[in-house]
Amino acid sequence: MKTFVPDYYNDFKCLAGDCKHSCCIGWEIDIDADTLEYYNSVEGDFGKRLKNNISHNEDTAFFAMDSCGRCPFLNEKGLCDIMLNLGFDKVSQICDDHPRFRNFYSDRTEIGLGMSCEAVAVQILSKQDKMQLVCIDGDEELLWPEEEDFLDFRADVFDILQNRHMSVQDRIEKMLDYCNIESINLTAQKQAQLFLSLERLDPVRDKLLAELSQATEKDLYMQDSKLETAFEQLAVYFVFRHLTESLDDDRLAGRLQFVVWALGVVYNLCALHYNRTGRLTIDDMAEICRMFSAEIEYSPDNMNTLFDTLE
Ligand code: SF4
Repeated sequence: MKTFVPDYYNDFKCLAGDCKHSCCIGWEIDIDADTLEYYNSVEGDFGKRLKNNISHNEDTAFFAMDSCGRCPFLNEKGLCDIMLNLGFDKVSQICDDHPRFRNFYSDRTEIGLGMSCEAVAVQILSKQDKMQLVCIDGDEELLWPEEEDFLDFRADVFDILQNRHMSVQDRIEKMLDYCNIESINLTAQKQAQLFLSLERLDPVRDKLLAELSQATEKDLYMQDSKLETAFEQLAVYFVFRHLTESLDDDRLAGRLQFVVWALGVVYNLCALHYNRTGRLTIDDMAEICRMFSAEIEYSPDNMNTLFDTLE
């Protein structure tokens, strides 16, 4: 069994108290069984505080958000009181894992970093050299033939998306050609309508999407982007993150169309920002990607709706 990660993986550093959109805000925090057992064994005042904040539904224990939508253990300095009181290794599995995601094969695991984390978004988008996958564990893998075929296919898609002799737009067209898929070419209005029809986490996005749905051609025009490399990294990230599961659900076309739709939405939101403010920095683009990722990539319902609608 081999484990692969993108070559930027080991450089990730959580911003902790400096994070503007902490992953401890806006979500309920599931507590895995081992951690729950441990929390139930903690004594004293902190043990009481833990138990008072554990909620249960059917078969899951979780920390419900407080009235401000924050994890009840996120303190005013933006740090985790569980880590401070009990140790860094005493948080629930989901806290320990975030912002990582995993792609599983029969004899291979790929681990990536998700863009709902602002540190990750900046890290990926500011990377200048082409993303490569590196093996961090294992020396042998025995994959099914369809998995081998998929990895060859995906390597070709990466090569197309990382061909810097072409514009990113041309690379995307070429990727679709290579995959024998016709572009659905949604207008900005239709992109926004589809986004607005999905489950939402943060109503802030509605204002942005309302602007997108009324944008004129001029609003969406961006001269050759200085952020071309950032869009390449974004395209590669979406492909890396979302294509593998097509081996299980057979929705390769829907997943590729999702990549194209997602790039189109992010590009148009970036263009709007550029035309409204006269600038577009990596940090601006990272904030748009963070919002997009939190709203879309972390909602299985939204992802399934998009794969089905776009296929
Ligand atoms: S979102 Fe990222 S940087 Fe912010 S607290 Fe979570 S892991 Fe750290």
